[in-house]
Amino acid sequence: EEEKNKYIRGKELGEGTYAVVYEGRLRADPTQLVAIKKIKVQKEYSDGIAPDAVREIKFLQELRHANIVRLHSVYSTRDQNLCLVLEHLPRGDLEMLIRDTAAVRYGAADIKAWMGMLCRAVAFCHDRAVLHRDIKPNNLLVAADGALKLADFGLARSCADPYRPMTANVITRWYRPPELLFGARHYTGGVDVWSVGLVFAELIIRNPYLPGNTEVEQIGLICRALGTPTEENWPGVTRLDSYTVPTDRVYPVAGRENFLGPFGTVGSDGVDLLMKTLVLDPRRRITSRAMLAHAWWHAEPRPTPIQDLPRRN
Ligand code: ADP
Repeated sequence: EEEKNKYIRGKELGEGTYAVVYEGRLRADPTQLVAIKKIKVQKEYSDGIAPDAVREIKFLQELRHANIVRLHSVYSTRDQNLCLVLEHLPRGDLEMLIRDTAAVRYGAADIKAWMGMLCRAVAFCHDRAVLHRDIKPNNLLVAADGALKLADFGLARSCADPYRPMTANVITRWYRPPELLFGARHYTGGVDVWSVGLVFAELIIRNPYLPGNTEVEQIGLICRALGTPTEENWPGVTRLDSYTVPTDRVYPVAGRENFLGPFGTVGSDGVDLLMKTLVLDPRRRITSRAMLAHAWWHAEPRPTPIQDLPRRN
């Protein structure tokens, strides 16, 4: 109740799948802008927010990194909604940059800079045992200085399940790893690494790489592009609860030659890193820490300095 009174709520900035975001100002210093994100509590959970959730989110306030959206405060309202007070980042997101092919031009050096910021954010959290589970271009916000900031780290798990839509909106499944599609209940940072790989691929081709319309179609796209998960390439996969793959044929695991064509503009080191993020078996997938040690970061071209990154007007 005290936290709530620290802020003055302003106009609506946008509405997402499971939240409404408002502009806010610090009562003590109204020049200080924040974003207030009000999470819509799902009907099934209408007993209110589990005290656990609030505690878990409070923990995220300690998670401070240059490429993670700062969480200033958390409080619940009288009507059982949860409000997150976040760093104000009004310059849009990576999805807008990728889609605006008419006005935004970028190249390999820019992709390397954005990917570097994303990978550092992810590795920082994985080191602290926090998973994101919903990495996608529109969760990567752009700061005034051009820095990329990963939004909602860890919130996906603790607040609302992003895969169970509140509204009729279809939540994107394009970045979901095969282990989640197959219903694995134990998973690791590998889930985020897969999503990071799909963001990488999308930055290069400027289109979603695996845009499935249903879960079944998503699995089909993964099989065709990257290979059919089998006991040979992923020991244990057939025992996962919802393991189902296309039965028309067993697609071979994609090799370098399959990646060089569509993704070759990031160079052979870039292609190597991409391939290692899109390994089917999560145990064999590269870790976020290992991503940061990859040769690509040191290969030419050097990443673009953040102040020189392309932006929207
Ligand atoms: P989505 O579900 O589409 O990811 P969110 O619920 O995170 O969207 O946010 C909805 C909208 O609110 C965003 O599209 C964006 O315009 C705005 N927004 C979200 N976070 C911030 C922020 N930290 N600063 C400024 N605007 C934000």
